[in-house]
Amino acid sequence: MPFSMILSTTVEAMRSGVFIIMEVSRRLKSIPPYVFAEIDKKRQAAVARGVDVINLGIGDPDQPTPAHIVEAMREAVLNPVNHHYPPFGGTKEYKAAAADWCHKRFGFTVNPDTEVTSLIGGKEGLHNTIMSFIDAGDVNLIPDPGYPVYKTSTILAGGEPYFLPLTHENDYLPDLEAIPSDVLQKSKLLILNYPNNPTAGVADLGFFEKAVSFARKHQILFCHDLSYSEMTFDGCKAPSALEIPGAKDVTMELHTLSKAYNMTGWRIGFAIGNAQAVKALAQLKSNVDTDIFRAIQVAAIAAFKGPRDHIEFCNKLYIERRDLAVKRLRELGWEVEPNKATFYMWLKTPKGISSAEFATEMLDRAGIVVPPGTAYGPAGEGYVRLSLCATAERLNEAFDRMAKHAITFDMGKARA
Ligand SMILES: *Cc1c(COP(=O)(O)O)cnc(C)c1O
Repeated sequence: MPFSMILSTTVEAMRSGVFIIMEVSRRLKSIPPYVFAEIDKKRQAAVARGVDVINLGIGDPDQPTPAHIVEAMREAVLNPVNHHYPPFGGTKEYKAAAADWCHKRFGFTVNPDTEVTSLIGGKEGLHNTIMSFIDAGDVNLIPDPGYPVYKTSTILAGGEPYFLPLTHENDYLPDLEAIPSDVLQKSKLLILNYPNNPTAGVADLGFFEKAVSFARKHQILFCHDLSYSEMTFDGCKAPSALEIPGAKDVTMELHTLSKAYNMTGWRIGFAIGNAQAVKALAQLKSNVDTDIFRAIQVAAIAAFKGPRDHIEFCNKLYIERRDLAVKRLRELGWEVEPNKATFYMWLKTPKGISSAEFATEMLDRAGIVVPPGTAYGPAGEGYVRLSLCATAERLNEAFDRMAKHAITFDMGKARA
């Protein structure tokens, strides 16, 4: 521990009247604080200063969980059968309902007993998948920009993340052929995510076919994070990688109810696909957690079996907000195309202004929270992510403030 850190820890301890120097693990020291926790601290500090902060930084649906799901939970909570330890890997009914949902939605078939396991959300599933497959010296091929867990959990596992750049020029699809052979030799895992957070990029079956044959050729597990399967617009429909014949030989997909069913607070999802991968993940999980409250599994079954009209409703809402944002951003000088999926817009920062500088100016001058693109990886430099989880009224207020404070795409030029 550097001396300055020992000193500050000691001073802190003395203040609180406790004289203990607690040294955290090298593992924990190897990763940064969770970026969104840090961004939230800045937001809270601005709120404490009395700023009316508009938070366009979060990927959390603002609409409530559909009533029929909440009702199912209410009933299930009252049933003492559900108060006990749940079975490892999810109840039989939950796994069957998840497999049925995938069959209806994507057309592929699995054995729910061996090819499905429950998750406490996608984030947990990603971490434990990485823990199950990555050792020291192993490489995990991950998108850049990408969901921060891909990288940090790889480092926690002692492995090395290898960034696959997603750029506007390559339609936010990685060039798998460009990965050097020495990297491939050490690679154990490929993680991809379409529809994509944060770029809003989408992939078609042709791309997944390439990813699956790449994984087969190099004997790598392909883990597809399909968190946004239902959030697509303008006739775009997101496929599952498991629709590719034979994909199950090398592919496991992670699904969550968080985004499609407005259930971010409930913490439930599932992994589906390759039986060996599902078994490994379930084995690791059984050693570190004791699954999901049964009542939540009952509620999730209600989600799988229930009507889809709220999905259509929310997508319409996101389209309206997106169209509003596109119009207002164009007025402010941005060249933006409407995103076909997800509630994110991946915006270029004005010329000469870095991601971090732009995010800071947005908060300090206009009271708007947007994460810098670099929060998602080095290729995020020159971008910020704007989320559409705010009402049209708040979005309009945000763009009004940008106009008022001369935050435009040309602001860099004006300064130069
Ligand atoms: C939201 C999200 C997840 C997981 O969310 P959970 O709430 O943990 O299920 C995983 N991957 C991406 C890309 C996400 O945006």
